[in-house]
Amino acid sequence: MTIAIVGAGLGGLALARVLHLNGIDAVVHEREASRDARGQGGTLDIHAGTGQRALREAGLIDRFHELARGEGQDMRLLEPDGTLLLQEDTPDDAPLERPEIDRADLRGLLLDSLPDGMVRWGHAVESAGDGLLHFTDGTRTTYDLLVGADGARSRIRPLLTDARPTHTGHNIVQLRIPDIDRTHPDLAAMVGRGTYWVLGDGRSLAAQRNSDGCVRVGLGFYNSPEDWFETSGIPFDAPAAVRVRLIELFADWDPRFTALIAACDDTVLRWAIGTLPIGLTWPSRPDVTLLGDAAHLMPPMGEGANMALLDGVLLGLALAAHPDDFPAAVEEYEREMFERAGAAGRLCTRVQELLSKPDAGRRMLAFFQPA
Ligand SMILES: Cc1cc2nc3c(=O)[nH]c(=O)nc-3n(C[C@H](O)[C@H](O)[C@H](O)COP(=O)(O)OP(=O)(O)OC[C@H]3O[C@@H](n4cnc5c(N)ncnc54)[C@H](O)[C@@H]3O)c2cc1C
Repeated sequence: MTIAIVGAGLGGLALARVLHLNGIDAVVHEREASRDARGQGGTLDIHAGTGQRALREAGLIDRFHELARGEGQDMRLLEPDGTLLLQEDTPDDAPLERPEIDRADLRGLLLDSLPDGMVRWGHAVESAGDGLLHFTDGTRTTYDLLVGADGARSRIRPLLTDARPTHTGHNIVQLRIPDIDRTHPDLAAMVGRGTYWVLGDGRSLAAQRNSDGCVRVGLGFYNSPEDWFETSGIPFDAPAAVRVRLIELFADWDPRFTALIAACDDTVLRWAIGTLPIGLTWPSRPDVTLLGDAAHLMPPMGEGANMALLDGVLLGLALAAHPDDFPAAVEEYEREMFERAGAAGRLCTRVQELLSKPDAGRRMLAFFQPA
């Protein structure tokens, strides 16, 4: 049986790792040219019951603990006028419920656990079906089981469902302050060791410390249309002017927050946030399945990477448990995944709704500390 995994993101690599541990051959086809071809973005909190459970099953939890930052669980929650609503500092002996790890470190941990050649870089899938995988360079290969782990805009998903992501009304611009302790020690002290989160008026500012000494500053705009990047007046081709325009868009906020924007360098990323229908399912097929964002893209409220890791590991374990009956393994995996991802998607949707409200800070405080 030939297993083809499309996508070397967290989910596809977690699946590859478990198959490798169980002596099951598989190939991961990844469109990027190499592991360093693209920046991997910021930091992820990996939860004890899902993402960490997956890493334990994959035999990688000790290395994860070496790389993860327990103090990254610190949280400061503020309102736009500067009012501090919540400050949580993580004691040294606190349980690692949701430590932070840079996405690049986590992906590197998974990649390093695979044998050379298991990931085929520079293999962008164009289309698939009837046991054939077609690549954009005109080559093709065969498969018996195809796993779409190719993220939000999956090329494999249409084999199983007509569902497509729709925009959630949330757009994010991300900037970064490199080497913050040296270049802006005052701002470094303000942000602290974990997440510094300002919420309200349909906007958000999340400053998060990464392991490489930089702080990433994510600016969220809620209730904004899909074409907002074009209509917002942000000149994305001129990074210095991007900062000027973003400071204008936050001009009614406490000046400490706009100081964070002013301190950023010229690296600018942006995301128009989409979601698949929450609770999406499909009739199981013996030769194709999906995992991670390809299966259940949800608002980015801290669950997506955790779900992708657990999907990959649980599918791998199901295949290992049914080596002569992959269709049964796929069905077993999908049954559990549909329920788990549906619950996570509902939670993320609820949090996203809270964040879009004018008094989002107070609402999140109530969410963290229910009466
Ligand atoms: C701004 C933002 C912040 C987020 N923050 C968090 C967070 O704090 N915590 C959390 O848990 N989740 C977070 N998420 C969600 C999380 O990033 C995703 O849920 C997670 O990365 C999904 O993993 P995946 O393996 O399914 O897909 P991906 O990580 O998207 O990987 C897909 C892979 O497939 C490859 N690929 C795509 N198309 C093809 C093709 N045609 N051929 C070959 N290869 C292909 C891609 O290059 C990529 O390597 C965030 C998302 C965003 C946008």
